[in-house]
Amino acid sequence: MDNSCLFCRIVAGEIPATVVHRTETTLAFRDIDPKAPTHVLVIPVEHHADVVALATANPSAAADVLATAAAVAEAEGLTGDGFRVIFNTGAHGGQEVFHVHAHVVGGAPLGPMLAGK
Ligand code: 5GP
Ligand code: ZN
Repeated sequence: MDNSCLFCRIVAGEIPATVVHRTETTLAFRDIDPKAPTHVLVIPVEHHADVVALATANPSAAADVLATAAAVAEAEGLTGDGFRVIFNTGAHGGQEVFHVHAHVVGGAPLGPMLAGK
């Protein structure tokens, strides 16, 4: 665990979060500032900065994050009308929290894939 990492502190229970799904290797909780009617963050319990670090160091945990994202989409009723899974990565990707997380967003039409495009 990285004590300076917000999401490691959520895993440790030091910072509260609305948890919607938990496995041995992943945690899913609602985004504090939702950008869509459903907005859930899926993280590996193990700290990795971004999706590249995760997929390189622990491909099995990367697969677990995708499986949990799919389970969350099912449980939140998103699979019929569709949804997005987004990994913001690095400066150009607009990543703000450097513990890798998949955004699972849906519940309404999400508009163009990229702002203004
Ligand atoms: P990023 O820009 O790194 O891809 O996304 C970080 C996400 O974390 C943002 O959508 C932001 O709203 C969310 N977030 C930041 N701080 C907290 C927090 O303390 N709790 C929860 N549940 N979400 C947070
Ligand atoms: Zn962390």
